[in-house]
Amino acid sequence: MGLDKWIKTEGSEKKPEKKEDGRSTRKHKTQPIEKKGEKEPIKLTKFVLICSKPKCKYKKVLMKKELSEKDRICPRCKNEMKVQ
Ligand SMILES: [Zn+2]
Repeated sequence: MGLDKWIKTEGSEKKPEKKEDGRSTRKHKTQPIEKKGEKEPIKLTKFVLICSKPKCKYKKVLMKKELSEKDRICPRCKNEMKVQ
C-alpha cells in the first residue's frame, strides 16, 4: 500500500529524467502518460438562455455545472427563460 502511494505521487509530478537509472531508458516507450486535462474535476456546461417573452428576449450565457431555478428567471422581466 505504501508503494502504491509513492508511485501515484511520482506519476502526478513532473520529474527530471533519471540518467543513472538504466531502467528508465527501457521503460521510456511504455511509460504511462497521465493527461491532466482528461480528468477535470469540474465539468462546465455552456447554457444559452433566452427570455421567452418576445418583447424582452433577454439573452444570457452561463458556464455552469447545472442550471438553478434562479438562472432560469429573466433578470429584466422575471419571466421564464428558455435554454437553447
Ligand atoms: Zn425577459
